[in-house]
Amino acid sequence: VHRVTDLLLLGLLFVAIAIGWLLGRRGQLAASLPLRSPYYEGLQFLLDDRTDSAADAFIDALEVNEETLETYLALGVLMRKRGETDRAIRIHQKLLARGKLSRRQVHNAHLELARDYLSAGLLDRAERLLQDLARESDELREVSLRQLLDLYQGERDWGQALAVGERLLALDSLQSAPQDRVAIRRMLAHCCCEMAIVHDAADEVTDGLRNLQRALAFDANCVRASLLLGRIELGQGRPERALRALRRVRFQSPDFVAETLPLLQECHVALGDNASLKPYLEDCVDYRATPALIVALAEEIERSDGPARAAAYLAIELARRPSLVGLSAMLAQQQRAAVASGAASQPLDALQPVMSRLLAEQPTYRCKDCGFSGRQLHWQCPGCRHWDSVRPLPVHTDD
Ligand SMILES: [Zn+2]
Repeated sequence: VHRVTDLLLLGLLFVAIAIGWLLGRRGQLAASLPLRSPYYEGLQFLLDDRTDSAADAFIDALEVNEETLETYLALGVLMRKRGETDRAIRIHQKLLARGKLSRRQVHNAHLELARDYLSAGLLDRAERLLQDLARESDELREVSLRQLLDLYQGERDWGQALAVGERLLALDSLQSAPQDRVAIRRMLAHCCCEMAIVHDAADEVTDGLRNLQRALAFDANCVRASLLLGRIELGQGRPERALRALRRVRFQSPDFVAETLPLLQECHVALGDNASLKPYLEDCVDYRATPALIVALAEEIERSDGPARAAAYLAIELARRPSLVGLSAMLAQQQRAAVASGAASQPLDALQPVMSRLLAEQPTYRCKDCGFSGRQLHWQCPGCRHWDSVRPLPVHTDD
């Protein structure tokens, strides 16, 4: 079906070019196509179902005027979408070389050529064209900067992405698009986080922390920045500061509180504080009872009030909000209780591997935009490349 559609489109484009070509020659002697014209050749190839040769014939016969320009641009886009980037590049290069184009038309052809280069993986050339366009064309500045932002993200060149993103935010055209601005700021916050990770790996703590503060300035709800702040501050022997950063996650995005638990527990150990984790978890569970938080709270209850209290708490919570994670925790707890009291734990022992397998098969994160799911938290969805769209399961619909 795809091939037929392409063939039809190519045919239509050919006719359009031929008409444009004729119109362009109206003032001249012959108002009809010469029989041996390359267009007839191209048409013949098309009729013989030799689209490749037809396309080449059209490209070679290229004659650019006001009437054919748009059609050639469309032909180039079609070639690129078919994956024939070489032909697309040839079309756009010839357009630029042969046509007497206005400044605006040159810019449009440059943009298409940059997109060809991107498809062909010729990123240096694409980057140069897009940087020129962003500087020279008022009309195409925004679209060029957006393409550059994608390019630098793909290259993991976070510094450049940040610079381009800030230029985008400063554009007049974006002042009236608050949703767009939020998405860009969110993305820039992740650029800062990525840079902080690089600094951290190089033991440049001050630069790392500065980038994380910058991330929070772009997006006050950047959970990743808070988690990184917690990790770095804890690593620097400042558990109070780490704790403050981690506790912010609850207000940034309550679904992610469970992600802070391992670091949070380390902070409390470092502070020698056994008492305040439990009330904090109780507050969090009151606000949003995710299975992982319920299990963490049950562990704290077991530590402070003993296994019987913890079992009772888990039983109540599981009845209200059944979850595999909760069931698994309950099973493990009963197993420990059985061992402690000297009772036989064999029936429970047999269940444990089954439970582990069920848990291992269950996705723990899902992208709210494209549905991509898995057991690893990605800050940028591998499916749709959106930032912050992958969330812990179960997904809450109220935020
Ligand atoms: Zn996605």
